[in-house]
Amino acid sequence: MQQYVLESLQVLQVHLSRARQFYQVVESEGEVFWQPIPQGPFPALTSQQPLSSAKGFFFAEQESLYVFDGQFFRETIPAPEPFVLFGVQSCDLMAIHYQDIFFEQDPYYQARRQQAILVGVDCVHPCAQGFCHLVNAGPGVRDTTADLILHPLEHGQWLLIAVTDAGKASLQGLTLTPAADHDKHSRWDNLSHCEQQFEDQSYILEGIEKLNRDQPSDEFWQQVAIQCIACSGCTTLCPTCSCYSTQQAAIGTDDASCSQAASYPSSTPKARQVRFWDSCLYEGFQREASFHNPSAQAGERVKRFWYHKFSNDFLPEFGRYGCVGCGRCEQTCPGVIGVHSVMKRIVKDA
Ligand code: SF4
Ligand code: SF4
Repeated sequence: MQQYVLESLQVLQVHLSRARQFYQVVESEGEVFWQPIPQGPFPALTSQQPLSSAKGFFFAEQESLYVFDGQFFRETIPAPEPFVLFGVQSCDLMAIHYQDIFFEQDPYYQARRQQAILVGVDCVHPCAQGFCHLVNAGPGVRDTTADLILHPLEHGQWLLIAVTDAGKASLQGLTLTPAADHDKHSRWDNLSHCEQQFEDQSYILEGIEKLNRDQPSDEFWQQVAIQCIACSGCTTLCPTCSCYSTQQAAIGTDDASCSQAASYPSSTPKARQVRFWDSCLYEGFQREASFHNPSAQAGERVKRFWYHKFSNDFLPEFGRYGCVGCGRCEQTCPGVIGVHSVMKRIVKDA
């Protein structure tokens, strides 16, 4: 890995934005969110976690899969311009890595993913609900998850680490100063200090252990689920949730897939198949055409959600848990059944 020191981020932001669409997390009026920044001046990097992760950049909240013109079906695979996500935190990068595995064979996801340069940023302070250090997702960016990594040094300087070939190529044309050993070492010191600043969250590890011993009973999950109003806040904000459904929709004149289909030699598209984010917390998510529902009880649905996040059964496929420790479910759940609350209840009552 090549490591450099930057006097400021502006030069890197300007450089990367020249040939790519540029997105960065910004803070405005108390909100923190991803925003396109077509040209400078570029804002400072915030250490705040955005409410929405970066998953929507690759797994679109709603998109056409194909159009039908009455005679032929045609896929509507997107053809995005190259883009850069600047300043993705380590937990969200790990979630993208997780989604990369889930959507490995999905051409719609991959079409976007292959156009992206991911610039990660190390966290040097724990965030409010985070526990990334317990699930191998932070606070330092893992090498396997980013093209470039940024780490804040003293006096406004930044350590820049080029990890992948794409990351190295994206720096071509920049004059960069190689990092000194003490800059490299201070990254590890800062990350180690950050890990020590996390509060005691050992109940999460204890809860995971009990969950994998199948200790929480069905009655326990049913009690927890009384508080679930199936709002889908958790599954929408969770960066690793990937449940979706598809349905047919009529084509409107303002439909993007309609213009894509205009070059198709056949007649005007009449219908399209749309994929959209779904939620395993919805009562009808698993209901079959026969009306049999394997998760008709709310307790079954809540149980399945948490097993999907922490069961050892998924380790062979993904190499990790399905939770990256971002804490967003705790922040959003109106029923107080986010990860901290659930794990505390498992430890105490299950
Ligand atoms: S389960 Fe909760 S803490 Fe874990 S990744 Fe999803 S939103 Fe974040
Ligand atoms: S955020 Fe809470 S109430 Fe909403 S679906 Fe998820 S668990 Fe249920």
